[in-house]
Amino acid sequence: MSPRLNTTAYRYDNEQLILWLTVLLVLGVIALTATATVCLSVVFILVMLLYSYWSTKAHHQSLIQNAQQVTPQSVPGLSPVIQEAAYRLQVEPVNVFIFPNRTLNAYTFGMDSPKAIVLYSSLLQVMDRDELQFIIGHEMGHVKLGHTWLNTLVGGMAGIPSSYAAAALMELAFRWWNRACEFSADRAGMLACGNPHKAISALIKLEAGPEAKSQEGLMRAIARIEAEDDALSSNIAELLATHPMIIKRVEKLRQYAKSTEYSRLQSGVNQNLV
Ligand SMILES: [Zn+2]
Repeated sequence: MSPRLNTTAYRYDNEQLILWLTVLLVLGVIALTATATVCLSVVFILVMLLYSYWSTKAHHQSLIQNAQQVTPQSVPGLSPVIQEAAYRLQVEPVNVFIFPNRTLNAYTFGMDSPKAIVLYSSLLQVMDRDELQFIIGHEMGHVKLGHTWLNTLVGGMAGIPSSYAAAALMELAFRWWNRACEFSADRAGMLACGNPHKAISALIKLEAGPEAKSQEGLMRAIARIEAEDDALSSNIAELLATHPMIIKRVEKLRQYAKSTEYSRLQSGVNQNLV
């Protein structure tokens, strides 16, 4: 039996050359589109940062016109509360404004110093001294931990135009980080006021909103907070929220208040006052 002829010699002359050229071309296109995407993303983030810088400046300007800036002269009762929180947390100087509004809210913003903290005027009617200090300390925590500018940067990155699924995934991740920042800021607030009970009562009053002025309103808020835990729908809704459910914030603060780290940090930051 003659040996079998096992050959590929019939391959068309240029088949392999064309294969290599094709692979090179595909790799070239991938490199080019990846570079273009990276460059466009960098440009996108820079434009977002510039826009944010400009809009926070404009916002700051409008607050100076429409809100009351807290100084020892303008709001003598609040100034020492702010000063004490700033000493405890060793935070950079911030401008605090009181904005006339019936809802209970506070926020901080700014990409360069001094950052601004905005307190809605209703907070001053509903919260006591320590609760206000918790809220101010919470916002100072955002400043101290760099959340104000990171929020713009990471938010810009998460907002890079992309496919629907990728955009949704980035948005979910961004909000996940937002919620983690809230837990950190709550800890800062508790350290700033030095009183876990007041930190928790401030959170309950925030949930109660304008109803916080009455005992019944507060009881209704507590019932709502307790119901949050069991409802599957609120757990799912939380995935899309920038703030965690109040019940989780309360539970995290309770746990933290029991930790040795909290006791150590609290006595340390209290020393900053002397
Ligand atoms: Zn916050």
